[in-house]
Amino acid sequence: MSIFTKIAEGEIPSYKCAENEEFYAFLDINPLVKGHTLVIPRREVDYIFDMNDDELARFQVFAKQVAIAIKKAFPCIKVGQAVLGLEVPHAHIHLVPMQSEKDMNFRNEKLSLSAEEMQAIADKIYSEFVK
Ligand code: AMP
Repeated sequence: MSIFTKIAEGEIPSYKCAENEEFYAFLDINPLVKGHTLVIPRREVDYIFDMNDDELARFQVFAKQVAIAIKKAFPCIKVGQAVLGLEVPHAHIHLVPMQSEKDMNFRNEKLSLSAEEMQAIADKIYSEFVK
């Protein structure tokens, strides 16, 4: 079982931002900026482009709904989207509220936020998420 499957199933704690029956969104534990969120399918699949067209479309629409919530919670120019998947073998979309293109540089030093700050960020996004 992948670490992200364990997160989606609640076996490993996470800062939940949004969910539905098929997908789950939670804060990246090493955020580039406040509001950096990961979106995953509950189904275990490593490579995003192994998803079939219908599942991938639903995944992208869910990520869009999460991005809308992030932008309301953390006003930004745009929410950037990236897919890397070099570290964790479970498909995930990074959503990053951007004030400039520099915010999407994954080599930037990550923020170190307290558990209270992380929870407050997740709660803010969750409260803006429209199911
Ligand atoms: P990548 O697979 O290259 O897209 O990177 C995986 C991302 O998942 C990194 O940004 C990590 O900080 C993040 N990550 C790894 N483990 C956790 C976890 N337990 N909770 C939240 N985010 C995580």
